[in-house]
Amino acid sequence: MTDIIKIKKWIDEANAIIIGAGAGLSDAAGIHYSGAKFEHDFIDWIRKYGIKDLYTSSFYPFRTEEERWAYWSKHIYFSYYERRNTDLYKNLFNLIKDKNYFVITTNTDGQFINNGFDKERVFEVQGSYSKLQCATPCHNKLYDNEEQVKEMLSNIDEDLKIPSSLVPKCPVCGKKMSVNLRCDNTFVEDDNWFKMQNKYNNFIRNNSDKNVLLLEFGIGFNTPGIIRFPFEQMTFMYDNFKLIRFNDKYAMIPEEIRDRAIPVTDNINGTIDLI
Ligand SMILES: [Zn+2]
Repeated sequence: MTDIIKIKKWIDEANAIIIGAGAGLSDAAGIHYSGAKFEHDFIDWIRKYGIKDLYTSSFYPFRTEEERWAYWSKHIYFSYYERRNTDLYKNLFNLIKDKNYFVITTNTDGQFINNGFDKERVFEVQGSYSKLQCATPCHNKLYDNEEQVKEMLSNIDEDLKIPSSLVPKCPVCGKKMSVNLRCDNTFVEDDNWFKMQNKYNNFIRNNSDKNVLLLEFGIGFNTPGIIRFPFEQMTFMYDNFKLIRFNDKYAMIPEEIRDRAIPVTDNINGTIDLI
């Protein structure tokens, strides 16, 4: 049984809250990269290319840019623009909106900033579906893609291609573009990325002598070095830091910090509703 009363008390007592979120949070919010909705929406791509889910299909070697961008416009729309608002993220925002908070997330679906969180307090470490970059990259600027994505999406033909005239081209070098998602060393970290990294580090530093609550949601062991391990280390280093780890599979807490941490394996939606 999750100790809801203790969780409430820790939130009340906190002078600052740092939310760390991974894929498990958006999955709990209803954005699934496989399953019924994916199979329905991507039926044509599943038939033509045999794709199985939106993780592995990101690496599919499309033969032409016209096919690649037909697929990506669909993928971006499905993962970002179609469902900007979700109850879980809204409830989470309502829970902490009056607190001094900061968010660090490996999610690229924009759910925090689209559900009320201040974008000056959200560090999206791994990029965003809503931005394009030069694929090379020849320069480190990012480009909002909403209009472009919608135009590509509404011009996909029966061969699952878009017209060549709509294929994104780098405005500087004229070569290919890609989505700003970290999958290899071509990922662009722009000025805003470094600004947000600084803000995150400053938030920790400026609050290190206060009662800080780390709320961690759905972070497993894909990239534990970005949020999970640092959250454990901060809890260990600072006596006044506490950690609540929401994870239905991997909520285990290292022994050294067990007295200042709560593992929560119950459903995230249900638990947030109770708090
Ligand atoms: Zn370029």
